[in-house]
Amino acid sequence: MHYIVITGGVISGLGKGTITSSLSHILSNSGHNVSAMKIDPYINYDAGTMNPYQHGEVFVLDDGGEVDLDLGNYERFLDRNLVTDNNITTGKIYSEVIRREREGKYLGSTVQIIPHITNEIKRRIRKVAQTDSSEILLIEVGGTVGDIESMPFLEALRELNREEPRNSVLFCHVTLIPEVGSNGEQKTKPTQHSVNELRGIGIQPDIIFCRLKGQLSEESRKKISLFTDVPEAGIIGVPDVKSPYWVPEVMNKQGILQYIENYFEMKPAIFTDPWKKYKENLHHAKESVRIAIVGKYTNLLDAYMSHKEAFTHVTGTTGIGVEIVWLDSDKLKESTAELATVDGILVPGGFGYRGVEGKIRACQFARENQVPFLGICLGFQAAVIEYARNALGLAGANSTEFDANTKYPVIDLLPEQEGISDMGGTMRLGAKPVTVRKNTIAHSIYGSDTISERHRHRYEVNPKFIGDFEQAGMLFSGVDDAGIRMEILELSGRKNFIATQYHSEFKSRPLLPSRVHKYLVEMALEYRKVKTDEGSP
Ligand code: GLN
Repeated sequence: MHYIVITGGVISGLGKGTITSSLSHILSNSGHNVSAMKIDPYINYDAGTMNPYQHGEVFVLDDGGEVDLDLGNYERFLDRNLVTDNNITTGKIYSEVIRREREGKYLGSTVQIIPHITNEIKRRIRKVAQTDSSEILLIEVGGTVGDIESMPFLEALRELNREEPRNSVLFCHVTLIPEVGSNGEQKTKPTQHSVNELRGIGIQPDIIFCRLKGQLSEESRKKISLFTDVPEAGIIGVPDVKSPYWVPEVMNKQGILQYIENYFEMKPAIFTDPWKKYKENLHHAKESVRIAIVGKYTNLLDAYMSHKEAFTHVTGTTGIGVEIVWLDSDKLKESTAELATVDGILVPGGFGYRGVEGKIRACQFARENQVPFLGICLGFQAAVIEYARNALGLAGANSTEFDANTKYPVIDLLPEQEGISDMGGTMRLGAKPVTVRKNTIAHSIYGSDTISERHRHRYEVNPKFIGDFEQAGMLFSGVDDAGIRMEILELSGRKNFIATQYHSEFKSRPLLPSRVHKYLVEMALEYRKVKTDEGSP
Protein backbone atom coordinates (compact mmCIF):
# COMPACT_ATOMS: atom_id res chain seq x y z
CA MET A 1 0.00 0.00 0.00
CA HIS A 2 1.24 3.49 -0.87
CA TYR A 3 0.07 6.76 0.59
CA ILE A 4 0.36 10.27 -0.85
CA VAL A 5 -0.37 13.00 1.67
CA ILE A 6 -1.23 16.50 0.43
CA THR A 7 -0.93 19.41 2.85
CA GLY A 8 -1.23 23.13 2.21
CA GLY A 9 0.73 26.12 3.35
CA VAL A 10 0.97 29.92 3.16
CA ILE A 11 -2.72 30.64 2.55
CA SER A 12 -5.93 28.70 2.13
CA GLY A 13 -7.78 28.42 -1.16
CA LEU A 14 -4.76 27.41 -3.24
CA GLY A 15 -6.59 24.60 -4.97
CA LYS A 16 -5.32 21.65 -2.98
CA GLY A 17 -8.45 19.77 -3.96
CA THR A 18 -7.72 20.29 -7.65
CA ILE A 19 -4.10 19.23 -7.19
CA THR A 20 -5.15 16.10 -5.29
CA SER A 21 -7.75 15.28 -7.93
CA SER A 22 -5.31 15.90 -10.77
CA LEU A 23 -2.66 13.72 -9.19
CA SER A 24 -5.20 10.94 -8.71
CA HIS A 25 -6.23 11.35 -12.35
CA ILE A 26 -2.67 11.01 -13.65
CA LEU A 27 -1.98 7.96 -11.52
CA SER A 28 -5.26 6.21 -12.27
CA ASN A 29 -4.88 6.84 -16.00
CA SER A 30 -1.43 5.29 -15.86
CA GLY A 31 -2.83 1.93 -14.87
CA HIS A 32 -2.57 2.34 -11.09
CA ASN A 33 -5.45 1.50 -8.79
CA VAL A 34 -6.03 4.78 -6.96
CA SER A 35 -8.36 6.15 -4.35
CA ALA A 36 -8.57 9.49 -2.56
CA MET A 37 -9.75 10.68 0.82
CA LYS A 38 -10.19 14.04 2.51
CA ILE A 39 -9.46 15.00 6.08
CA ASP A 40 -11.53 17.95 7.28
CA PRO A 41 -10.19 19.12 10.63
CA TYR A 42 -13.42 20.87 11.67
CA ILE A 43 -15.50 19.62 14.60
CA ASN A 44 -18.68 19.00 12.59
CA TYR A 45 -19.38 15.30 12.23
CA ASP A 46 -19.88 15.71 8.49
CA ALA A 47 -20.70 18.37 5.91
CA GLY A 48 -24.44 17.60 6.02
CA THR A 49 -25.39 20.37 8.41
CA MET A 50 -23.05 22.99 6.96
CA ASN A 51 -24.32 26.10 5.24
CA PRO A 52 -23.40 26.06 1.54
CA TYR A 53 -22.80 29.79 1.82
CA GLN A 54 -19.85 29.24 4.13
CA HIS A 55 -18.56 25.97 2.91
CA GLY A 56 -19.79 25.41 -0.62
CA GLU A 57 -21.99 22.59 -1.80
CA VAL A 58 -22.68 19.53 0.32
CA PHE A 59 -21.77 16.63 -1.94
CA VAL A 60 -23.72 13.36 -1.72
CA LEU A 61 -22.23 9.92 -2.36
CA ASP A 62 -23.93 6.73 -3.52
CA ASP A 63 -23.96 5.36 0.03
CA GLY A 64 -25.73 8.49 1.27
CA GLY A 65 -22.68 10.18 2.82
CA GLU A 66 -22.98 13.97 2.96
CA VAL A 67 -19.41 15.03 2.37
CA ASP A 68 -17.06 17.84 1.45
CA LEU A 69 -17.30 19.04 -2.13
CA ASP A 70 -13.73 17.94 -2.80
CA LEU A 71 -15.01 14.35 -2.82
CA GLY A 72 -17.02 15.41 -5.87
CA ASN A 73 -13.82 16.52 -7.55
CA TYR A 74 -12.12 13.24 -6.70
CA GLU A 75 -15.03 11.25 -8.15
CA ARG A 76 -15.02 13.30 -11.35
CA PHE A 77 -11.25 13.13 -11.84
CA LEU A 78 -10.96 9.49 -10.82
CA ASP A 79 -14.17 8.43 -12.54
CA ARG A 80 -14.89 6.19 -9.55
CA ASN A 81 -17.50 6.14 -6.79
CA LEU A 82 -16.24 6.81 -3.28
CA VAL A 83 -17.80 6.07 0.11
CA THR A 84 -18.48 8.06 3.28
CA ASP A 85 -15.34 6.74 5.00
CA ASN A 86 -13.28 8.62 2.41
CA ASN A 87 -14.08 11.83 4.29
CA ILE A 88 -12.98 12.04 7.92
CA THR A 89 -13.48 14.93 10.30
CA THR A 90 -12.42 15.78 13.85
CA GLY A 91 -16.06 15.19 14.80
CA LYS A 92 -16.02 11.60 13.51
CA ILE A 93 -12.70 10.81 15.19
CA TYR A 94 -13.63 12.23 18.59
CA SER A 95 -17.10 10.76 18.68
CA GLU A 96 -15.64 7.30 18.03
CA VAL A 97 -12.96 7.68 20.70
CA ILE A 98 -15.49 9.00 23.24
CA ARG A 99 -17.88 6.18 22.39
CA ARG A 100 -15.15 3.64 23.05
CA GLU A 101 -14.16 5.36 26.28
CA ARG A 102 -17.77 5.11 27.48
CA GLU A 103 -17.72 1.40 26.68
CA GLY A 104 -14.65 1.07 28.89
CA LYS A 105 -12.51 -0.08 25.97
CA TYR A 106 -9.47 1.88 27.12
CA LEU A 107 -9.26 -0.16 30.32
CA GLY A 108 -8.99 2.76 32.70
CA SER A 109 -6.17 4.59 30.97
CA THR A 110 -6.19 8.35 30.46
CA VAL A 111 -7.55 8.99 26.98
CA GLN A 112 -5.32 11.47 25.14
CA ILE A 113 -4.76 13.05 21.75
CA ILE A 114 -1.56 11.03 21.46
CA PRO A 115 -1.95 8.06 21.17
CA HIS A 116 -5.74 7.57 21.25
CA ILE A 117 -6.89 10.22 18.80
CA THR A 118 -3.90 9.72 16.50
CA ASN A 119 -4.40 5.93 16.58
CA GLU A 120 -8.03 6.37 15.58
CA ILE A 121 -6.98 8.63 12.70
CA LYS A 122 -4.46 6.05 11.46
CA ARG A 123 -7.01 3.25 11.88
CA ARG A 124 -9.48 5.16 9.68
CA ILE A 125 -6.88 5.86 7.02
CA ARG A 126 -5.72 2.25 6.89
CA LYS A 127 -9.32 1.09 6.79
CA VAL A 128 -9.96 3.16 3.66
CA ALA A 129 -6.78 1.80 2.11
CA GLN A 130 -7.84 -1.77 2.84
CA THR A 131 -11.48 -1.48 1.85
CA ASP A 132 -10.64 0.22 -1.42
CA SER A 133 -7.83 -2.28 -2.02
CA SER A 134 -6.08 0.48 -3.89
CA GLU A 135 -2.43 0.55 -4.70
CA ILE A 136 -2.17 4.25 -3.95
CA LEU A 137 -4.33 6.24 -1.52
CA LEU A 138 -4.22 10.02 -1.72
CA ILE A 139 -4.97 11.84 1.53
CA GLU A 140 -5.74 15.54 1.35
CA VAL A 141 -5.49 17.42 4.64
CA GLY A 142 -7.88 20.38 4.72
CA GLY A 143 -6.77 23.71 6.15
CA THR A 144 -3.27 25.13 6.31
CA VAL A 145 -0.26 23.74 8.15
CA GLY A 146 -0.03 25.55 11.48
CA ASP A 147 -3.80 25.49 12.15
CA ILE A 148 -4.44 24.16 15.65
CA GLU A 149 -7.24 21.92 14.39
CA SER A 150 -5.07 20.01 11.93
CA MET A 151 -2.26 19.22 14.39
CA PRO A 152 -3.49 15.77 15.51
CA PHE A 153 -3.94 14.74 11.87
CA LEU A 154 -0.46 15.81 10.87
CA GLU A 155 0.97 14.02 13.90
CA ALA A 156 -0.93 10.88 12.89
CA LEU A 157 0.44 11.13 9.36
CA ARG A 158 3.96 11.58 10.69
CA GLU A 159 3.47 8.39 12.70
CA LEU A 160 2.01 6.60 9.69
CA ASN A 161 5.20 7.38 7.79
CA ARG A 162 7.27 6.00 10.66
CA GLU A 163 5.24 2.81 10.92
CA GLU A 164 4.86 1.93 7.24
CA PRO A 165 7.74 0.44 5.22
CA ARG A 166 10.30 2.91 3.88
CA ASN A 167 9.23 4.93 0.85
CA SER A 168 5.56 4.05 1.09
CA VAL A 169 4.32 7.44 2.33
CA LEU A 170 5.00 10.44 0.13
CA PHE A 171 4.35 13.97 1.38
CA CYS A 172 3.31 16.79 -0.96
CA HIS A 173 3.05 20.37 0.18
CA VAL A 174 1.11 23.00 -1.77
CA THR A 175 2.37 26.57 -1.42
CA LEU A 176 2.00 29.97 -3.03
CA ILE A 177 4.71 31.81 -4.96
CA PRO A 178 3.73 35.48 -4.96
CA GLU A 179 4.84 37.45 -8.02
CA VAL A 180 5.59 41.00 -7.00
CA GLY A 181 6.68 44.28 -8.54
CA SER A 182 6.34 45.46 -12.10
CA ASN A 183 8.51 42.62 -13.40
CA GLY A 184 6.53 39.98 -11.46
CA GLU A 185 9.50 38.71 -9.49
CA GLN A 186 8.78 35.28 -7.98
CA LYS A 187 9.17 35.16 -4.20
CA THR A 188 10.05 31.87 -2.54
CA LYS A 189 10.26 33.01 1.07
CA PRO A 190 6.65 32.12 2.07
CA THR A 191 7.33 28.60 0.73
CA GLN A 192 10.51 28.33 2.79
CA HIS A 193 8.66 29.41 5.93
CA SER A 194 5.79 27.07 5.32
CA VAL A 195 8.10 24.10 4.72
CA ASN A 196 9.95 24.97 7.94
CA GLU A 197 6.63 24.85 9.77
CA LEU A 198 5.95 21.42 8.33
CA ARG A 199 9.42 20.20 9.24
CA GLY A 200 8.85 21.48 12.77
CA ILE A 201 6.03 18.96 13.00
CA GLY A 202 8.41 16.25 11.82
CA ILE A 203 7.31 16.03 8.19
CA GLN A 204 9.80 16.49 5.38
CA PRO A 205 7.97 17.05 2.08
CA ASP A 206 8.96 15.04 -0.98
CA ILE A 207 7.11 17.17 -3.52
CA ILE A 208 6.27 20.87 -3.49
CA PHE A 209 3.47 22.17 -5.64
CA CYS A 210 4.02 25.85 -6.26
CA ARG A 211 0.87 27.75 -7.13
CA LEU A 212 1.51 30.86 -9.15
CA LYS A 213 0.13 32.89 -12.04
CA GLY A 214 2.71 32.05 -14.70
CA GLN A 215 5.47 29.50 -15.18
CA LEU A 216 7.80 28.66 -12.30
CA SER A 217 11.25 30.02 -13.19
CA GLU A 218 14.30 27.75 -13.10
CA GLU A 219 15.82 30.10 -10.58
CA SER A 220 12.85 29.71 -8.19
CA ARG A 221 12.92 25.96 -8.63
CA LYS A 222 16.60 25.78 -7.71
CA LYS A 223 16.17 28.07 -4.74
CA ILE A 224 13.19 26.17 -3.33
CA SER A 225 15.03 22.89 -3.79
CA LEU A 226 18.09 24.22 -1.97
CA PHE A 227 16.13 25.53 1.00
CA THR A 228 13.71 22.66 1.39
CA ASP A 229 15.84 19.61 0.52
CA VAL A 230 13.32 18.53 -2.08
CA PRO A 231 15.04 17.43 -5.33
CA GLU A 232 14.43 19.83 -8.23
CA ALA A 233 12.38 17.18 -10.03
CA GLY A 234 9.97 17.29 -7.11
CA ILE A 235 9.31 21.02 -7.37
CA ILE A 236 6.25 21.30 -9.56
CA GLY A 237 4.87 24.60 -10.85
CA VAL A 238 1.09 24.82 -11.02
CA PRO A 239 0.21 28.00 -12.90
CA ASP A 240 -3.31 29.39 -13.23
CA VAL A 241 -5.11 27.59 -16.05
CA LYS A 242 -8.52 28.25 -17.54
CA SER A 243 -10.11 25.22 -15.94
CA PRO A 244 -9.05 22.50 -13.46
CA TYR A 245 -9.28 19.95 -16.27
CA TRP A 246 -5.94 21.22 -17.61
CA VAL A 247 -4.04 20.74 -14.37
CA PRO A 248 -3.18 17.02 -14.86
CA GLU A 249 -1.57 17.81 -18.20
CA VAL A 250 0.45 20.67 -16.70
CA MET A 251 1.69 18.45 -13.89
CA ASN A 252 2.39 15.48 -16.12
CA LYS A 253 4.61 17.53 -18.42
CA GLN A 254 6.90 18.17 -15.46
CA GLY A 255 7.52 14.45 -14.93
CA ILE A 256 5.44 14.01 -11.78
CA LEU A 257 4.46 10.44 -12.65
CA GLN A 258 8.06 9.26 -13.05
CA TYR A 259 9.04 11.05 -9.86
CA ILE A 260 6.31 9.31 -7.83
CA GLU A 261 6.95 5.89 -9.39
CA ASN A 262 10.62 6.29 -8.62
CA TYR A 263 9.90 7.18 -5.03
CA PHE A 264 7.58 4.20 -4.56
CA GLU A 265 9.91 1.97 -6.58
CA MET A 266 7.12 1.05 -8.95
CA LYS A 267 7.36 -0.11 -12.54
CA PRO A 268 7.23 2.93 -14.86
CA ALA A 269 3.93 3.49 -16.66
CA ILE A 270 2.61 5.92 -19.24
CA PHE A 271 -0.18 8.39 -18.67
CA THR A 272 -2.90 8.15 -21.32
CA ASP A 273 -4.99 11.28 -21.36
CA PRO A 274 -8.68 10.34 -21.69
CA TRP A 275 -9.69 14.01 -21.96
CA LYS A 276 -7.96 15.04 -25.19
CA LYS A 277 -11.12 15.51 -27.22
CA TYR A 278 -12.97 16.74 -24.14
CA LYS A 279 -10.51 19.57 -23.55
CA GLU A 280 -10.53 20.44 -27.23
CA ASN A 281 -14.30 20.84 -27.01
CA LEU A 282 -13.98 23.01 -23.93
CA HIS A 283 -11.48 25.15 -25.73
CA HIS A 284 -13.31 25.54 -28.99
CA ALA A 285 -16.98 25.28 -28.03
CA LYS A 286 -18.89 26.29 -31.16
CA GLU A 287 -22.39 27.47 -30.49
CA SER A 288 -23.13 28.66 -27.04
CA VAL A 289 -26.27 28.88 -24.91
CA ARG A 290 -27.09 31.00 -21.89
CA ILE A 291 -28.49 29.05 -18.97
CA ALA A 292 -29.85 30.79 -15.89
CA ILE A 293 -29.21 29.13 -12.55
CA VAL A 294 -31.82 30.50 -10.17
CA GLY A 295 -30.55 30.10 -6.65
CA LYS A 296 -30.09 31.87 -3.38
CA TYR A 297 -26.39 31.28 -2.90
CA THR A 298 -25.35 32.98 -6.11
CA ASN A 299 -22.66 35.01 -4.32
CA LEU A 300 -20.71 31.86 -3.60
CA LEU A 301 -20.65 29.84 -6.76
CA ASP A 302 -19.07 26.84 -5.02
CA ALA A 303 -22.53 26.31 -3.55
CA TYR A 304 -23.56 25.01 -6.99
CA MET A 305 -20.25 23.37 -7.88
CA SER A 306 -21.66 20.12 -9.27
CA HIS A 307 -24.12 21.95 -11.54
CA LYS A 308 -21.30 24.08 -12.92
CA GLU A 309 -19.25 20.94 -13.49
CA ALA A 310 -22.16 19.10 -15.08
CA PHE A 311 -22.49 21.89 -17.67
CA THR A 312 -18.75 21.76 -18.29
CA HIS A 313 -19.13 18.02 -18.91
CA VAL A 314 -21.88 18.77 -21.42
CA THR A 315 -19.63 21.22 -23.27
CA GLY A 316 -16.71 18.81 -23.19
CA THR A 317 -18.74 16.02 -24.75
CA THR A 318 -20.98 17.97 -27.15
CA GLY A 319 -18.99 21.06 -28.05
CA ILE A 320 -21.94 23.27 -27.09
CA GLY A 321 -20.72 26.12 -24.91
CA VAL A 322 -22.71 27.06 -21.81
CA GLU A 323 -22.67 30.53 -20.34
CA ILE A 324 -24.14 30.36 -16.85
CA VAL A 325 -26.19 33.37 -15.81
CA TRP A 326 -26.43 33.43 -12.01
CA LEU A 327 -29.77 34.80 -10.89
CA ASP A 328 -30.64 35.58 -7.31
CA SER A 329 -34.07 34.03 -6.77
CA ASP A 330 -35.06 36.71 -4.27
CA LYS A 331 -34.76 39.34 -6.99
CA LEU A 332 -37.11 37.47 -9.33
CA LYS A 333 -40.00 38.34 -7.06
CA GLU A 334 -39.76 41.89 -8.36
CA SER A 335 -38.97 41.27 -12.02
CA THR A 336 -38.50 38.33 -14.31
CA ALA A 337 -37.02 40.47 -17.11
CA GLU A 338 -33.66 38.71 -16.97
CA LEU A 339 -35.32 35.36 -17.58
CA ALA A 340 -36.40 36.61 -20.99
CA THR A 341 -32.74 36.90 -22.02
CA VAL A 342 -31.70 33.29 -21.43
CA ASP A 343 -32.09 30.09 -23.47
CA GLY A 344 -32.72 27.76 -20.57
CA ILE A 345 -33.53 27.84 -16.87
CA LEU A 346 -32.22 25.58 -14.11
CA VAL A 347 -33.78 25.77 -10.66
CA PRO A 348 -31.47 23.81 -8.33
CA GLY A 349 -31.99 22.34 -4.86
CA GLY A 350 -32.23 24.24 -1.62
CA PHE A 351 -33.66 24.45 1.87
CA GLY A 352 -35.72 26.99 3.78
CA TYR A 353 -38.27 29.54 2.66
CA ARG A 354 -35.99 32.37 1.56
CA GLY A 355 -35.83 32.54 -2.20
CA VAL A 356 -38.56 29.97 -2.81
CA GLU A 357 -41.18 32.35 -4.23
CA GLY A 358 -38.60 33.58 -6.77
CA LYS A 359 -37.89 29.99 -7.77
CA ILE A 360 -41.60 29.36 -8.21
CA ARG A 361 -41.81 32.42 -10.45
CA ALA A 362 -38.92 31.10 -12.52
CA CYS A 363 -40.85 27.83 -13.02
CA GLN A 364 -43.93 29.77 -14.05
CA PHE A 365 -41.94 31.89 -16.49
CA ALA A 366 -40.37 28.82 -18.09
CA ARG A 367 -43.72 27.06 -18.35
CA GLU A 368 -45.68 30.00 -19.74
CA ASN A 369 -43.00 31.17 -22.15
CA GLN A 370 -41.85 27.80 -23.45
CA VAL A 371 -38.31 28.36 -22.13
CA PRO A 372 -36.42 25.05 -21.68
CA PHE A 373 -36.52 24.13 -18.01
CA LEU A 374 -34.81 21.77 -15.61
CA GLY A 375 -35.74 21.59 -11.94
CA ILE A 376 -33.65 19.67 -9.43
CA CYS A 377 -34.92 18.60 -5.99
CA LEU A 378 -36.31 21.86 -4.57
CA GLY A 379 -36.56 22.99 -8.21
CA PHE A 380 -38.74 19.92 -8.86
CA GLN A 381 -40.89 20.77 -5.84
CA ALA A 382 -41.15 24.43 -6.93
CA ALA A 383 -42.44 23.30 -10.35
CA VAL A 384 -45.10 21.21 -8.61
CA ILE A 385 -46.17 24.10 -6.37
CA GLU A 386 -46.32 26.47 -9.32
CA TYR A 387 -48.44 24.06 -11.35
CA ALA A 388 -50.79 23.53 -8.43
CA ARG A 389 -51.30 27.25 -7.95
CA ASN A 390 -51.53 28.35 -11.56
CA ALA A 391 -52.72 25.37 -13.58
CA LEU A 392 -54.83 23.51 -11.02
CA GLY A 393 -56.11 26.73 -9.44
CA LEU A 394 -55.16 25.66 -5.91
CA ALA A 395 -54.48 29.12 -4.50
CA GLY A 396 -51.90 29.11 -1.72
CA ALA A 397 -50.65 25.60 -2.54
CA ASN A 398 -47.28 25.07 -0.96
CA SER A 399 -44.81 22.69 0.62
CA THR A 400 -45.31 22.10 4.32
CA GLU A 401 -41.62 22.94 4.63
CA PHE A 402 -42.57 26.57 3.94
CA ASP A 403 -46.17 26.78 5.13
CA ALA A 404 -47.14 24.17 7.68
CA ASN A 405 -50.83 25.20 7.49
CA THR A 406 -51.26 25.46 3.74
CA LYS A 407 -54.69 24.42 2.50
CA TYR A 408 -53.08 22.50 -0.34
CA PRO A 409 -49.93 20.72 0.91
CA VAL A 410 -48.86 19.48 -2.53
CA ILE A 411 -45.35 18.87 -1.21
CA ASP A 412 -45.25 17.18 2.15
CA LEU A 413 -42.87 15.48 4.55
CA LEU A 414 -41.86 11.95 3.58
CA PRO A 415 -43.80 9.65 5.93
CA GLU A 416 -40.63 8.14 7.42
CA GLN A 417 -39.45 11.64 8.34
CA GLU A 418 -42.27 12.15 10.87
CA GLY A 419 -40.85 12.56 14.34
CA ILE A 420 -37.22 12.96 13.24
CA SER A 421 -35.63 15.90 15.04
CA ASP A 422 -31.93 15.33 14.38
CA MET A 423 -30.72 17.28 11.36
CA GLY A 424 -27.55 15.32 10.57
CA GLY A 425 -27.68 12.38 8.17
CA THR A 426 -31.44 11.89 8.49
CA MET A 427 -32.76 12.85 5.06
CA ARG A 428 -33.60 10.43 2.27
CA LEU A 429 -30.01 10.14 1.13
CA GLY A 430 -27.90 8.52 -1.53
CA ALA A 431 -28.41 6.38 -4.60
CA LYS A 432 -31.90 4.89 -5.08
CA PRO A 433 -33.37 3.15 -8.09
CA VAL A 434 -35.81 5.14 -10.19
CA THR A 435 -38.26 3.48 -12.57
CA VAL A 436 -38.62 5.45 -15.78
CA ARG A 437 -42.00 5.16 -17.45
CA LYS A 438 -42.08 4.15 -21.11
CA ASN A 439 -43.11 6.60 -23.83
CA THR A 440 -42.03 9.64 -21.87
CA ILE A 441 -39.42 12.33 -22.49
CA ALA A 442 -37.51 10.93 -19.52
CA HIS A 443 -37.41 7.50 -21.15
CA SER A 444 -36.10 8.98 -24.38
CA ILE A 445 -33.40 10.82 -22.41
CA TYR A 446 -32.25 7.82 -20.39
CA GLY A 447 -33.07 5.04 -22.84
CA SER A 448 -33.63 2.74 -19.90
CA ASP A 449 -36.42 1.49 -17.62
CA THR A 450 -34.40 1.88 -14.43
CA ILE A 451 -31.70 4.27 -13.40
CA SER A 452 -29.92 4.94 -10.13
CA GLU A 453 -29.53 8.50 -8.90
CA ARG A 454 -28.50 10.26 -5.70
CA HIS A 455 -30.99 11.89 -3.35
CA ARG A 456 -31.03 14.38 -0.50
CA HIS A 457 -34.49 15.47 0.61
CA ARG A 458 -37.09 15.32 3.36
CA TYR A 459 -40.16 16.30 1.35
CA GLU A 460 -41.92 14.76 -1.63
CA VAL A 461 -44.96 15.16 -3.86
CA ASN A 462 -47.96 14.49 -1.65
CA PRO A 463 -49.49 11.25 -3.00
CA LYS A 464 -53.00 12.62 -2.37
CA PHE A 465 -52.62 15.11 -5.20
CA ILE A 466 -51.02 12.90 -7.83
CA GLY A 467 -54.30 12.08 -9.58
CA ASP A 468 -55.19 15.79 -9.83
CA PHE A 469 -51.81 16.66 -11.28
CA GLU A 470 -51.92 13.91 -13.86
CA GLN A 471 -55.40 14.91 -14.93
CA ALA A 472 -54.21 18.47 -15.38
CA GLY A 473 -51.31 17.45 -17.61
CA MET A 474 -48.39 17.08 -15.24
CA LEU A 475 -46.93 13.68 -15.86
CA PHE A 476 -44.75 11.82 -13.38
CA SER A 477 -42.47 9.98 -15.74
CA GLY A 478 -40.18 8.56 -13.06
CA VAL A 479 -41.10 6.97 -9.75
CA ASP A 480 -39.25 5.08 -7.02
CA ASP A 481 -39.08 1.28 -7.15
CA ALA A 482 -42.22 0.94 -5.02
CA GLY A 483 -44.08 3.30 -7.35
CA ILE A 484 -45.17 5.63 -4.54
CA ARG A 485 -42.57 8.37 -4.64
CA MET A 486 -42.50 10.81 -7.54
CA GLU A 487 -39.03 11.20 -9.04
CA ILE A 488 -39.33 12.84 -12.48
CA LEU A 489 -41.97 15.18 -13.87
CA GLU A 490 -42.75 16.56 -17.28
CA LEU A 491 -45.70 18.31 -18.91
CA SER A 492 -47.78 16.55 -21.50
CA GLY A 493 -47.30 18.00 -24.95
CA ARG A 494 -44.15 19.81 -23.89
CA LYS A 495 -40.72 18.40 -24.62
CA ASN A 496 -38.48 20.93 -22.92
CA PHE A 497 -39.81 20.98 -19.36
CA ILE A 498 -38.43 18.38 -16.99
CA ALA A 499 -37.61 18.16 -13.30
CA THR A 500 -36.17 15.51 -11.01
CA GLN A 501 -36.48 14.92 -7.28
CA TYR A 502 -32.99 13.43 -7.35
CA HIS A 503 -29.73 15.30 -7.87
CA SER A 504 -28.43 14.20 -11.24
CA GLU A 505 -25.53 16.67 -10.94
CA PHE A 506 -23.77 14.48 -8.36
CA LYS A 507 -23.18 11.61 -10.74
CA SER A 508 -22.16 13.73 -13.71
CA ARG A 509 -18.72 12.78 -15.00
CA PRO A 510 -16.53 14.49 -17.62
CA LEU A 511 -17.14 11.84 -20.26
CA LEU A 512 -20.64 10.92 -19.10
CA PRO A 513 -22.52 14.10 -18.25
CA SER A 514 -25.77 14.20 -16.33
CA ARG A 515 -28.37 13.26 -18.93
CA VAL A 516 -30.86 15.92 -17.90
CA HIS A 517 -28.28 18.73 -17.91
CA LYS A 518 -27.27 17.62 -21.37
CA TYR A 519 -30.89 17.55 -22.46
CA LEU A 520 -31.46 21.06 -21.10
CA VAL A 521 -28.50 22.37 -23.09
CA GLU A 522 -29.66 20.66 -26.29
CA MET A 523 -33.17 22.03 -25.85
CA ALA A 524 -31.72 25.48 -25.10
CA LEU A 525 -29.77 25.39 -28.36
CA GLU A 526 -32.90 24.47 -30.30
CA TYR A 527 -34.86 27.20 -28.54
CA ARG A 528 -32.14 29.74 -29.26
CA LYS A 529 -32.15 28.86 -32.96
CA VAL A 530 -35.93 29.25 -33.21
CA LYS A 531 -35.73 32.55 -31.32
CA THR A 532 -33.01 33.87 -33.63
CA ASP A 533 -34.90 32.74 -36.75
CA GLU A 534 -38.04 34.47 -35.55
CA GLY A 535 -36.07 37.59 -34.78
CA SER A 536 -34.44 37.77 -38.21
CA PRO A 537 -36.22 39.66 -41.00
N1 GLN B 1 -35.87 21.22 1.00
C1 GLN B 1 -36.36 20.19 0.14
C2 GLN B 1 -36.51 18.86 0.85
O1 GLN B 1 -35.97 18.66 1.90
C3 GLN B 1 -35.45 20.04 -1.07
C4 GLN B 1 -34.10 19.52 -0.72
C5 GLN B 1 -33.07 19.75 -1.79
O2 GLN B 1 -33.26 20.53 -2.72
N2 GLN B 1 -31.93 19.12 -1.69
O3 GLN B 1 -37.18 18.00 0.35
